[in-house]
Amino acid sequence: MWQVIGQTKIVNSLRRSLADGRLSHAYLLAGPQHVGKMTLAITLAQALNCLSEDKPCGECPSCRRIASGKHSDVQVIGRAETETRRGSSVRKEISIDQIREMQHNVSLKPYEGDHRLIIIDGAEHMSEEAANSLLKTLEEPPPSTTIILLAADEGLLLPTIVSRCQRLRLSPQPVGTLTQALVERWGVSGERADLLARLCHGCIGWAIRAIHNEKALAKRSEHMDSLISLSRGDVSERFAVAAQLATQFGKDRASVRERLELWLTWWQDLLLVKNGCGEFITNMNRREALQQAAAQYSLSAISGMIRSIRETIQQLEQNANPRLALEVLMLDIPH
Ligand SMILES: [Zn+2]
Repeated sequence: MWQVIGQTKIVNSLRRSLADGRLSHAYLLAGPQHVGKMTLAITLAQALNCLSEDKPCGECPSCRRIASGKHSDVQVIGRAETETRRGSSVRKEISIDQIREMQHNVSLKPYEGDHRLIIIDGAEHMSEEAANSLLKTLEEPPPSTTIILLAADEGLLLPTIVSRCQRLRLSPQPVGTLTQALVERWGVSGERADLLARLCHGCIGWAIRAIHNEKALAKRSEHMDSLISLSRGDVSERFAVAAQLATQFGKDRASVRERLELWLTWWQDLLLVKNGCGEFITNMNRREALQQAAAQYSLSAISGMIRSIRETIQQLEQNANPRLALEVLMLDIPH
């Protein structure tokens, strides 16, 4: 059974390719953080190596070893901390050494099964050397090997890498699909499942983390509080936040995007409340605060702020100066 929630089109196309023996030598799974890219990649690895009739069964020794990260033909490469050349700071990236080691491994025959799978998690964080080196592997794909790149921010990948992969874009799933999955598969109560499904922006991984880890929910709440309070802050407070986000952007672009998208949900909820559609809001746990805040802003101020946040997200994706873009956004916050 494919463990992925939703993403039916992608799963069906992969199943067909598997059945016809026409799997691509390289895939790019793109989509926001926690949308299910890793789960899909692991399930594909299981489907390729499963020992049962109905692949992937999730139960056989092979499927189990893959799920626990112990299968010798399935390798996951992720970001590791490396010192920059000047030795002054530590950067988290996928290094040339990691790619070279992978290239050595794929030059050997698979050990356990007959197919090897390499998953590169956070592929957009490959160093330039690593990316160029990987390009060579993609140009001359090794036999019996599938390479899967996972990227939340695919705009950072070399276009030559993207063009050599079959690109599959995973999209956030509707609240109803996620609520049902949380109730049926994870045994979450109805009301809590509904709240988590709304809060996770269609990305089930976040909700699952929140079930096991109250901190994720608390962290989100903390971020939201500080963003909401900016409406009351003066220019210097707002610019301090812009500077802090710009620094963060240099280290981890996805987390800043996530923060802005979180803020966007607040303003979108305000718009819904203002228009009398309170039942569709994301932040169900902040209903009262939203009611109060909605009364303080005009419709045009709320829509203006939604537009500004969206534009800022877009500008950051197009490599605008982060500090400047964020400062402009801070000035747009209505009082
Ligand atoms: Zn199996």
